[in-house]
Amino acid sequence: IIKFDKVVKRFGDVTVLDALDFEVGKGEKVTIIGPSGSGKSTVLRILMTLETINEGVIHVAGKPLWHQYKDDALVPASQEHLREMRKEMGMVFQQFNLFPHMTVRRNVTEAPIHVLGLSKEKANQRAEEYLELVGLSDQADKFPSKLSGGQQQRVAIARALAMRPNIMLFDEPTSALDPELVGEVLTVIQRLAQEHDLTMLLVTHEMQFAKQISDRVCFFDKGRIVEEGPPEQVFTEPREERTQEFLKAFL
Ligand code: ATP
Ligand code: MG
Repeated sequence: IIKFDKVVKRFGDVTVLDALDFEVGKGEKVTIIGPSGSGKSTVLRILMTLETINEGVIHVAGKPLWHQYKDDALVPASQEHLREMRKEMGMVFQQFNLFPHMTVRRNVTEAPIHVLGLSKEKANQRAEEYLELVGLSDQADKFPSKLSGGQQQRVAIARALAMRPNIMLFDEPTSALDPELVGEVLTVIQRLAQEHDLTMLLVTHEMQFAKQISDRVCFFDKGRIVEEGPPEQVFTEPREERTQEFLKAFL
């Protein structure tokens, strides 16, 4: 459902993604691990159309993401095409990025109303459904600042789900949390992984968690995939020296 073909991303003279080939199948749960600066967030941000690409082509759900076809030729995507493509994906960030001046409920209903055109009533129903799924039905009228970090991150997950995306992207969803709040967020993500046929792409340093939920783990270094495979293989018998060295730090 996601396919990167020889994607190059540069910031100035720095090549952040180096002719990256990368695929995620429909319903697959894929974890990206790798050192700081290896391009993990950049992959997710490009998918969310928060960053452009310099070379290559990306397909999402069979359609080019940053391009569109015009008379059989690939041309840069229009704003309208990008808007349509964005609906395929929801993203959860390390910093929860909730709207501080809106209640929890309105955080969740805002995009369904303004992007999808849902009625307020329908959007509120949806908000109830997804707040229940993340265990926060009783917090709907509060403002984000009144919630713990773990609760805020669960609201962010509900907000992304309320758009009913086919693909969920998570960028280190627990690294800004106090240790005692990590578990509740991981539990919600794990439940999503098990009970929904969502496609999930997750960047995390929670190796034990990655092992439990992933169908496949990709180790990134310097804008390329150095090694990938089922978690049992990558975590317990990594083939590449760079992977071994990286994982040693987590023992
Ligand atoms: P981390 O584990 O620290 O989150 P990462 O693997 O997510 O790292 P990226 O955020 O994808 O890494 O960044 C990859 C490289 O791109 C880094 O060298 C970073 O400094 C650079 N970079 C990212 N965003 C920008 C930007 N907007 N302008 C310039 N350089 C950037
Ligand atoms: Mg990052």
